[in-house]
Amino acid sequence: MHKCLFAGGKAMENRFEERIAEITGRGLFSDDIEVIQLNLGLRCNQCCVHCHVDASPERSEEMPWSVMERACEIINEVQPVIVDMTGGAPELNPHFQRLVARLRGAGHPVQLRTNLTVLLEPEMVRLPEFLREHAVQLVASLPCYLEENVRSQRGSGAYEKSVEALRRLNALGYGTAKGPALNLVYNPGGAFLPPDQAQLEPDYRRELQARFGIEFTHLLTITNMPLGRFWEELRRRREDRRYMALLRDAFNPNTLQGLMCRHQISIGWDGRVYDCDFNLALGLPVDHGAPSHITQFAGDAVAKRRIVTGNHCFGCTAGFGSSCRGALV
Ligand code: SF4
Ligand code: SF4
Repeated sequence: MHKCLFAGGKAMENRFEERIAEITGRGLFSDDIEVIQLNLGLRCNQCCVHCHVDASPERSEEMPWSVMERACEIINEVQPVIVDMTGGAPELNPHFQRLVARLRGAGHPVQLRTNLTVLLEPEMVRLPEFLREHAVQLVASLPCYLEENVRSQRGSGAYEKSVEALRRLNALGYGTAKGPALNLVYNPGGAFLPPDQAQLEPDYRRELQARFGIEFTHLLTITNMPLGRFWEELRRRREDRRYMALLRDAFNPNTLQGLMCRHQISIGWDGRVYDCDFNLALGLPVDHGAPSHITQFAGDAVAKRRIVTGNHCFGCTAGFGSSCRGALV
């Protein structure tokens, strides 16, 4: 019987691993490292109800420059398709701009996951121009085009600030036909699966254009993972079992090839190496013999590693599938 640690640290049956073994005859293995994701820290200007890493203004964890330097060496060695920066709000890390400049100077494509509202913080006034000058691609959270749904997930004022930030980014060319990418991220406002990404995108495009004249590149739909504050809220409302059953019942084997853990690694703020940001949130670094800290990084062992799974992984394989790059099928 496979065991895993699940939200709250309680040992449970790892039904996901069992499901994978039924299909593949072995565990889940990575194929390559197309993406290196850097989690720059857990400080955030927001405290969203669905946050899977429990980020908030009170968190102080942040990636120091020494870890960033080692991460840059690894990125130079691996040459990933893109370096993906996440957090928390990665922009709040004091070394953020220096890191971007270092990576772009070495020719690496860089993508920033922004919550948009942070771009309106007083000390961030010049940041959109900096991002544009360095051709940083953007992935921006906007869980709905309707104000009420954004407010319920991200708090009062988040919708207005997000719209204002999107306008400023559009004015710099972001999300326009010839400008750098500005992808938006939808996630459900409760314990249900995202709709079809291809069908929701035209709705977003039409509504944001009609209401605010806002343009964007693509919409990415992401499933709420059974982790962090979202999971705690489900437990409080006694919806946790129903949601896990929903994810399990919607298991789609066609999502397996594209699972993000098969094509990326995540480096935590402290230099630990994870299969993905969700395992990072659970404190589950890479295992099965692969080195779990950047100080011992070995490209081949990490690129072809066996992935650490748990029941939370059903969030990635449900329905259309889910990843940091949106739906999988
Ligand atoms: S979901 Fe994103 S914006 Fe919200 S608290 Fe978490 S890291 Fe911050
Ligand atoms: S949570 Fe998703 S991305 Fe992470 S290890 Fe599980 S299946 Fe892979």
